Amino acid sequence: MIGDESLQTIEHHTVIIVGGGPAGLPLAVVLGGWHPYYRGSRMFRQRYPQLDEGLKALQETLLALDFRGLARSGIPPVDLFRLLHHPRQLFEELAQIALEFRKAPPIDYLLITQEEVGGLWNNVPQNLLTLSPGQWMEFAFYPLAQHIEEQGIDLNVNDLIIKENLINYYHRVPSRFGQTDRIHTHEKVVRIQPHEKGFLLTRKDVGTETTHRYTCKYLVYAVGQPCILRRLDVPGEDLPFVENHYDRPEDFPGERVVVVGGGRSADWAATELYDAGKQVYYVMRQPFEQHWQLISDSRYGLPYYARIAEIIESRSPRFQSLYRSHVHKIEEGPSSGLVTVNHQGAEKVIEVDHVILEIGGVVDYSLFEGFEPLELVKKYDRYRFQLDQVQTHPHNYEVTNIPNLYMGGYLAAGLGLVVIAMHGATYAIAGDILQKEKHISF
Ligand SMILES: Cc1cc2nc3c(=O)[nH]c(=O)nc-3n(C[C@H](O)[C@H](O)[C@H](O)COP(=O)(O)OP(=O)(O)OC[C@H]3O[C@@H](n4cnc5c(N)ncnc54)[C@H](O)[C@@H]3O)c2cc1C
Repeated sequence: MIGDESLQTIEHHTVIIVGGGPAGLPLAVVLGGWHPYYRGSRMFRQRYPQLDEGLKALQETLLALDFRGLARSGIPPVDLFRLLHHPRQLFEELAQIALEFRKAPPIDYLLITQEEVGGLWNNVPQNLLTLSPGQWMEFAFYPLAQHIEEQGIDLNVNDLIIKENLINYYHRVPSRFGQTDRIHTHEKVVRIQPHEKGFLLTRKDVGTETTHRYTCKYLVYAVGQPCILRRLDVPGEDLPFVENHYDRPEDFPGERVVVVGGGRSADWAATELYDAGKQVYYVMRQPFEQHWQLISDSRYGLPYYARIAEIIESRSPRFQSLYRSHVHKIEEGPSSGLVTVNHQGAEKVIEVDHVILEIGGVVDYSLFEGFEPLELVKKYDRYRFQLDQVQTHPHNYEVTNIPNLYMGGYLAAGLGLVVIAMHGATYAIAGDILQKEKHISF
């Protein structure tokens, strides 16, 4: 354990949140003093009369709930807050939300994140649509309907939302809730160690590489999934015409593009590049049946899956899907790039202008040094997201073998890999910290 030897250079906070995405950002607002109260709603009462009965006498904030008791009686806090926020899947009116938020004094916290708030949504393709209605991506204290009303935006919150509108919503949150001063962007935490005060964090400024150290009593690790981008580990992967980020077709001049992947990001890039007139070679490890299953399941609900289904069914020579295939090597040819693909046992060489790798990333747990190892469990979802989640207590999402360390968002074992499924955990984590600190009465 590291001691107090150089305290002058170390800044202390009661809570530090690492990661300012849809998991970390709402936690900043709640720790910043915006506490949920039960106000009930007609819809909530109709659908969940027993919960209404139990909650309506409550005067204090819901952060003071007995989360352990709730979890024991079969109501995980993440689900309770989801039902209070979304008593039905469709949004009709603000009055259906059974929560209201009142301002209380903040606890001393700091949020550190390496890009703007909003997490990976800062970097997804310019025109990417969500998988779910816009209002499923919102925070309970700031319904999307309220945001669009305040900002005069014309948007149906029950429709899928485009990246630009979603990221504008997330970017608005810090100033709208008075938290700008406690949120440090463009800073990357590079190491987390045990300390007599709890945790010692070392962070670097993105760009200047200046380092700074912090201690905190409670740490929320909300770094999301794609911290470390996966690599193909083949020769030529670092050549200049190989990219691991896709934004829009205009960034890829020329005709021929190899897209490597098979998940949703790769589907999106391959479809958009085809529609921009490119010759697309889509290289995937998975068999056709697996890919087609997801496309078929999604094509009647999601327009971009309808589009990729249409393209594949058209058998256009401009869209060649190579299933059960691996990239073997990438090299510079006399007039273009050359990609050698092992396609169902046979070698195939493709001439290309660009290679786009959309092979996802992994959560970075390597920052933790000197702690007991985190207990990891694998999680997959139907859109082929996959990641290692950490074993946590089901009532507060605190890591089972490291007290006062919380896993933000779906890094906690068992939580679903979308915002609507994980947002409720915010209130259990904040409530647990505030209860331990006796910052709220209960
Ligand atoms: C292509 C794609 C489409 C998706 N579509 C949907 C969808 O339609 N609906 C849905 O609900 N979910 C969707 N998801 C899931 C998505 O992960 C969530 O929407 C959400 O972004 C997760 O929030 P998060 O805060 O956990 O992680 P992230 O959004 O990844 O945010 C984490 C933040 O922490 C930062 N960070 C990481 N490491 C450090 C560090 N060491 N120091 C400082 N900062 C750090 C990251 O840079 C990032 O800004 C999609 C994911 C992808 C990849």
